[in-house]
Amino acid sequence: MRSYGLKQIVPSNVCLQCEGCCRFESDTTEWRPLVCQEERVRAVNEELTDVPLSARTIDARGYLHATRCTDTCFPCQYFSMKDYSCVVYGRRPFECALYPFVFYRKGEERWLSVHLPCPYVRDRIHTDEFQGHVRFMREWLSGPGVQQFLRRNPSLFHEYLGFEHELEHVCPVEWSSFQIGPFLMALKPAFEEVMKGQKPEISAQSFAGMAIWSDFFSFENRMIDGALCVFASDQAGTFLYMPPVTEALVPAVIEKCFDMMDQVNSGQGVSRVEHVSQSQLGMFPPDRYESEFKTEEYCYLRQELIDLKGNVYKSHRSDYNRAEKSYDLKLRDFSKKDAESCLKLFDRWADVKRQGCEDDMSRYMLEDSRWAHRIVMENMEDLGVFGRVLLANGKLCGYTFGYPLNEETFCVLFEVTDPDYKGIPTFIFREFCASPELASYRYINVMDAMGLEGVRRAKESFHPVKKEPVYIVRRKA
Ligand code: SF4
Ligand code: SF4
Repeated sequence: MRSYGLKQIVPSNVCLQCEGCCRFESDTTEWRPLVCQEERVRAVNEELTDVPLSARTIDARGYLHATRCTDTCFPCQYFSMKDYSCVVYGRRPFECALYPFVFYRKGEERWLSVHLPCPYVRDRIHTDEFQGHVRFMREWLSGPGVQQFLRRNPSLFHEYLGFEHELEHVCPVEWSSFQIGPFLMALKPAFEEVMKGQKPEISAQSFAGMAIWSDFFSFENRMIDGALCVFASDQAGTFLYMPPVTEALVPAVIEKCFDMMDQVNSGQGVSRVEHVSQSQLGMFPPDRYESEFKTEEYCYLRQELIDLKGNVYKSHRSDYNRAEKSYDLKLRDFSKKDAESCLKLFDRWADVKRQGCEDDMSRYMLEDSRWAHRIVMENMEDLGVFGRVLLANGKLCGYTFGYPLNEETFCVLFEVTDPDYKGIPTFIFREFCASPELASYRYINVMDAMGLEGVRRAKESFHPVKKEPVYIVRRKA
C-alpha cells in the first residue's frame, strides 16, 4: 500500500521476534488496522488478487477481520503464526506501516502519537536515534501527499478510548499545504490526452473540475478496454466520477466498472456514476440502469453578458453603472499574495450566503468550497485556471476564477464579492467575461446554484441561454 515515503523505525528482525503486533485481544478492537476506502480501490485496481483486501476481508467499518486463535488472541488474517510474519507485508495497510506511530483525535485536536507498549519504543524513546526519527516524522507529515491523504481519510484518527495513557503525543497534525498531491498530478497527462477528443458539457468533466475536490476524494484513473475510468473514493465508498471516456463506449466497460465498485463498496446505492450529462444518458440502457436528476448548470452567451442590452438586463446595467460611478475600480490578475485577503473575503461572503441556506448539505458545501478555493489559489498553473481580483478604491472587494471547459465554453469556477459593495457582482462578472483571454468562447458556464436559493436567483437573473442537466446513474438491482 502507498505509504508516502514513510520510513520504519523498528528493524524487521526485531518485529519478527516480538509478540506485540498483529495479534489482538478481540475481533472488534479498533487496534486492528483500518483499511481506507482508497486502499481498497487500489488493491482491486492493481489486481492484487492474491491479496484479497475486499468486502469479504474487511468489516463494515473498514477494519481488517481478525480470527480467533485462543480466547485472548485474535490474529490478523494475514498474520502467519508459523514465523510471525505478515503474508502481505509489501502491501499491508497504511496503518500497519505507520505503527508504532498512530493518529489520535480528541475533540478538535489531531495528533501523531506513539504507542508506548511497543518494547522497541519503550526502550529507546529518550534516545537520540528515536528523537531523530520523530524529526523525520514531523517533516514527513508536512508533505503535500501525506497531508492530502490524511484530509481525505479522517477516519485514520482514532480516539483510542481507554488507551490514552498508552500514547505519547509526538506532534499536532495541522494542515499547512494545499498543494495538489503528486499522485493526482501524475494522472493529469493521461486524463488530458483522452479528453482531447471529447467536448465536455458539464464543469466536473475537466481536470480542474476534478482536482479542486482532491481533498475530499481520492482519484484513481483506470483504463478498461480502452476507456478511461476515473474512480473517486471517500470513506462512504467509491463511485465513477464521470462516465468512462472513450470514442465508442461499449456496455461491457460500464458493467465492469459497476462490478469493480460493488467489490469495494458495502453500502447500498454507493456504486454509481456521477456527473453524467444529458447527451451521455444514452450510454446507459434504461432496462439496466436508472438515472436521477441531480442539478443543472447555467450557461449564457458571453456576448450578451458583455453587452447587457435590452430590458432583460436593465437592472444589471444599472448595477454595473452604479459600481462604476461609486468606486475607483481596478480588475487585475490574481497573484498568490492575494490569497489571504481573498480567503478573508470568502469568510464574509459565506456568512451572508449561509443565512440563505435551506439545508445542512448546502451549508457543508459552503465549508467545502473554502478548501476548494484555496486549492485553486495555490495551484492555478497546474490546474489551467486563471483568476482576477477586483480592487475598489485600492481595497480588494472581489475575486473570480475560471477555466476553459471545451473550445466554445469557458467555465467560471467561482466569483466572490464583498457584500457591502453594491453593484460589484455584476461589474466583476461582466469584466471577467470581457477579458481578452475569453474572447474565443461563445458560452459561459457558471456551474450550478449549490442548492442556495439566493445563488439560484442570481444565476437566473442573467438569463441563461441553456441549462445543462447533471445526472447520477445507478445499476438496477
Ligand atoms: S510491538 Fe513494536 S517491536 Fe513488537 S512487533 Fe510491533 S512494532 Fe515491532
Ligand atoms: S496486515 Fe500484516 S502487518 Fe497488518 S496487522 Fe495484518 S499481519 Fe500485521
